[in-house]
Amino acid sequence: MNRTILSRMLAIPTAPFAEHRVIDYIKTFSQRRPGVSFKQDQVGNLLIHIRRRNRKVARPVCITAHLDHPGFVVEKMISKTRLRAHWRGGVPQPYFAGSKVRLFDGDRIIKGKVRATTSVTYSGKKRVDSATIDVPESVSPGSIGMWDFPDVTFRGSKIYARDCDDIAGASAMLCAIDQLSKQNQTCDAYFLFTRAEEVGFVGAIAACRLGTIPKKCFVVAMETSSQLPNARMGDGPILRVGDRTSAFTPAATSHCYRIARELARDDSSFQYQRKLMDGGTCESSAYCSLGYEATGLCVALGNYHNINAKRGTLGPEYIDLRDFDSVVKWFVSLAQAPFPYTGADQQLASQIKDLEKTYKKLLRASIKKPC
Ligand SMILES: [Zn+2]
Repeated sequence: MNRTILSRMLAIPTAPFAEHRVIDYIKTFSQRRPGVSFKQDQVGNLLIHIRRRNRKVARPVCITAHLDHPGFVVEKMISKTRLRAHWRGGVPQPYFAGSKVRLFDGDRIIKGKVRATTSVTYSGKKRVDSATIDVPESVSPGSIGMWDFPDVTFRGSKIYARDCDDIAGASAMLCAIDQLSKQNQTCDAYFLFTRAEEVGFVGAIAACRLGTIPKKCFVVAMETSSQLPNARMGDGPILRVGDRTSAFTPAATSHCYRIARELARDDSSFQYQRKLMDGGTCESSAYCSLGYEATGLCVALGNYHNINAKRGTLGPEYIDLRDFDSVVKWFVSLAQAPFPYTGADQQLASQIKDLEKTYKKLLRASIKKPC
């Protein structure tokens, strides 16, 4: 089921401020599963609540992911074979001219080629704002445009797609919801799907301002994050202690860490990592800054924002399916476990006791002369 959900989600076109098709899919998905309810806030973020067997916990988890990916939204046809489109998201200008685009107009897919771009300066940085695209036929205003890559391709343990960031994260949440709705175990958890992260997580900021996430929740923001030399793909999903901007709430991070250790103890196929992922700033920073206890999880991502830096070309994003499966297990456990984790970290406490016991005598005996 995990592969079906992931493949279907990755095939749905999306862009910042144009996430409606993914939102429709998630609504239908939720309606078909027992114990699952949803509501949309005033800015379109989608909050799912799952409660099984009347469980009610004081501090439920709210796992979040964003539903957009850098892309175009068609503004208008400027001639019979040329259109103008807004561009939203972070891709450097040199990658645009001559690149192929897929435009999604209702059920039609029209292929086009970027002719030129215009840029604006924002916060001291120049970024692409709009593009003219050559097309063989007319395309309706509002159509979504994405780079011209296949929906999904499987190669070894990897899956390649136009928009793993962050549709793979959102898909992992749906896989967890699917499993929780089928299991007979108790759970009480929230899943928030946010809009417009790629322009600066404005959907997540609005969700905090509007109180979309219940105040009693602790937040776990899920991302796909550019792989780093010490955070490699295939070594398991990564618990983020922070990002480029801030360190996340220690209690929430330790809670996720404890659950990962328990999962790894009981399931040899579950792998995880614990790292500072400082390649960028994620929604967890916004949640922490706006009053929530929050931490972050991610899976390592290849060709971040469709950029194949080695070749200097655009390419499909990719993740490792083993990382994906492990993060789904992590979500299921988080939805079922109580928070906060009360009491000391038992593993750390017993490690400290062992060390004290082993070296207590030597530490004292060696004060005056080394022994
Ligand atoms: Zn992104």
